[in-house]
Amino acid sequence: MTFSLEVKQELAKQLPKARHCGIAELSAILFFFGSVRTEEGKKRLVISCEQEMIARKCFTLIEKTFNISVGVQKSDRYFHLEVADKELSEEVLLALKMAEISNAECSEAGHVNSVLLKSTCCKRAFLRGCFLCCGSISDPAKGYHLEFVCQKESLANQIAGYLNDFEIAGKIVQRKKYYVVYLKEGSAIAELLNVLGAHVAMMNLENTRILHEIAGETNRRVNCETANLLKSVNAANAQVEAIEHIAKTVGLEALPVSLQEIAYVRLEHEDASLKELGEFLSPPVGKSGVNHRLRKIQEYADKLKG
Ligand SMILES: [Zn+2]
Repeated sequence: MTFSLEVKQELAKQLPKARHCGIAELSAILFFFGSVRTEEGKKRLVISCEQEMIARKCFTLIEKTFNISVGVQKSDRYFHLEVADKELSEEVLLALKMAEISNAECSEAGHVNSVLLKSTCCKRAFLRGCFLCCGSISDPAKGYHLEFVCQKESLANQIAGYLNDFEIAGKIVQRKKYYVVYLKEGSAIAELLNVLGAHVAMMNLENTRILHEIAGETNRRVNCETANLLKSVNAANAQVEAIEHIAKTVGLEALPVSLQEIAYVRLEHEDASLKELGEFLSPPVGKSGVNHRLRKIQEYADKLKG
């Protein structure tokens, strides 16, 4: 199962306790899958969607929020939900501020009536509904990306605005005919999952983030150590090469005694660090002293090479 589906399944199970939040979440779902039809002078709300998870949630939300029963039919791949009683159907439309819409898809309004989304709890519920319908999140082990794909720019702006109310900065980009609100920061995504109420998913994301950070830190350290090691190996090779050049041309005896000593020690211990080389001398010499002498030898060899 994808991480995205895991998050949605967790969100699908969340049912708002308050009626206002139920209405807010429904308003988001209806934006995507709802339509209003006028039959015999009465308006009816019809919901059609492919995903069983969303159909179930919608069914429960309407029944619980309005305390009425909903009919469900399945044809082709679609689940169709309808409030059978015409009077009650109008009541639902009124509560959802959709009574003015007739014979149209709910999304034609462009965004959800903000009167329904005044409280923080309702904004949270609205964002949850939107994520269920048009959201997706990538597997945190592969990278951080969360997005809401909207057909209407106004809805994208509305989502980004409410994210901002929770201090989550979403960016909007146009992708073909869609407006995409997206988050790229692991911390912002974790915060949003928290806002939506996907606490299990949030914990899983946080665990992955921690593991990534540790792995990143370890990698950086190993890379750094490898680089340092490589640097000293290269330096040692250059020193040996210089000493061998002097030996072949003028002989090591041409060097001052202090340089001769370090030259012999270096030839014997090609892998030793500067500090270790210094300890082989008597009396011992410090790291910077060893470095100084080896540098002199290299300068001498360079001079010989002209
Ligand atoms: Zn509320």
